Amino acid sequence: MRSDFRINKIKKALLIYPKPQEIKRFRFGYSLGLLRIGALLIKAGYNVEYLDFGLNSYTEAEVLKKVNDSHLIVFEFDTFSLRRSINYIEGEKLIKSIRRKFNGEKIILVCGNDLVIVPRNVQGANYTLKKDCFHVIEDLINILQLEFTTEINNLLPERALLPDGTEFGKNIFHKPNLAKSAITKTSFGCNGNCIFCQRKGYVPHFFTLTRKFIVNDFEFLLKHNYKNIWIADDNFSSNLKEAKEILKLIIQLKSKLGNRPKIAISSWVKIDKEFLDLSKEAGVSVISFGIESANKDIQRFYNKIINLKKLENLLMYCDEVGIYTIGNFIIGAPMETKQTIAETIDFINNTPLHNINVKVLDYMVGSHLFKLLPSNLKRMVLPERHIFACKRLGLTNFYYEELKTISIDIREKFFQKNKERLENRITKHGYPYYGR
Ligand code: SF4
Repeated sequence: MRSDFRINKIKKALLIYPKPQEIKRFRFGYSLGLLRIGALLIKAGYNVEYLDFGLNSYTEAEVLKKVNDSHLIVFEFDTFSLRRSINYIEGEKLIKSIRRKFNGEKIILVCGNDLVIVPRNVQGANYTLKKDCFHVIEDLINILQLEFTTEINNLLPERALLPDGTEFGKNIFHKPNLAKSAITKTSFGCNGNCIFCQRKGYVPHFFTLTRKFIVNDFEFLLKHNYKNIWIADDNFSSNLKEAKEILKLIIQLKSKLGNRPKIAISSWVKIDKEFLDLSKEAGVSVISFGIESANKDIQRFYNKIINLKKLENLLMYCDEVGIYTIGNFIIGAPMETKQTIAETIDFINNTPLHNINVKVLDYMVGSHLFKLLPSNLKRMVLPERHIFACKRLGLTNFYYEELKTISIDIREKFFQKNKERLENRITKHGYPYYGR
């Protein structure tokens, strides 16, 4: 059988997603970028292991033992998008330990979006690629001098590298709680320009992945009986026409392969009923919408004007056809008052949303909002890569603790008020995800 590669003499590789500062208890996810690197290295004849500190805990001694057996170690320094936390601090510590113990023996390569928003060379690494890990395949081929003959754009992530139980929701906190589940991507970036969005800092322009990649990955997931699929696009419907075409492809694949997974997407509200009809037919069971605020001045500040009437109709339609909707809101804009928060609560109370998240406005490195901070604040928060809005910093009319309490209170009241409605909905349409 012809190999895609000239087999390199380096044979063992370790892919490391360092420990995030905060690990979310129920957040499903893993690094598609590292798994794509894994696919490349396996094709090149490497023995590959994926260590994800967001999913498992490993002692330093365990890691160093694995490093001892490896020649190549690839790290991902991530931004907030995957795990809602940063991991570069632990990553840098680990690289230092590896260098201390193994000196120059190992090849260490670091990539990831954190290096795009804060460009630098990582101390101790042989190579720092200031790119998302998903898009470093060509660089790796050059660095490792691999002769690759297949199309790099269509290389699928190697999910077989995931630790046992991961695909069933297992993580540090709990046992498997989901039916077989996966994440995938169809696009990167977004055509929106929300002032708080960190994604604009590392994907300035929206682009879709190749049709071949999308079809092959969905075909793989359907053939291998995945029951829940999260499309982890920044904004699945950013190019509405293209998103509809992708949904049509999924519908065709579903009827060809006879599998009916539940699919979750994130979307802005610039969609229409045709999109929702196609979503329903494709098996989309959850749409997470970025709504942010019901107040027009705040929407203008966020650079995200939303037609609330149109949105209400779309949410009602989702409710009717059985698509579960999540509304994401932000409180803490500079002009936020009790009155503007009340407007947002009023909107929440008068729409048939099925779940809500209320977050405190976050000034994240990479976002336009962060650029507006005075330089002393920027310097102060740079190591943490973000800072929440707070009266103490002169960023809003409320203290952070007040905003946090308000956000928890809004969510609790939402669930108290809608308990019966949500239970009835589950009886009628089932849960949004397949459980274990
Ligand atoms: S719509 Fe979402 S992904 Fe797009 S810029 Fe706004 S927050 Fe970012």
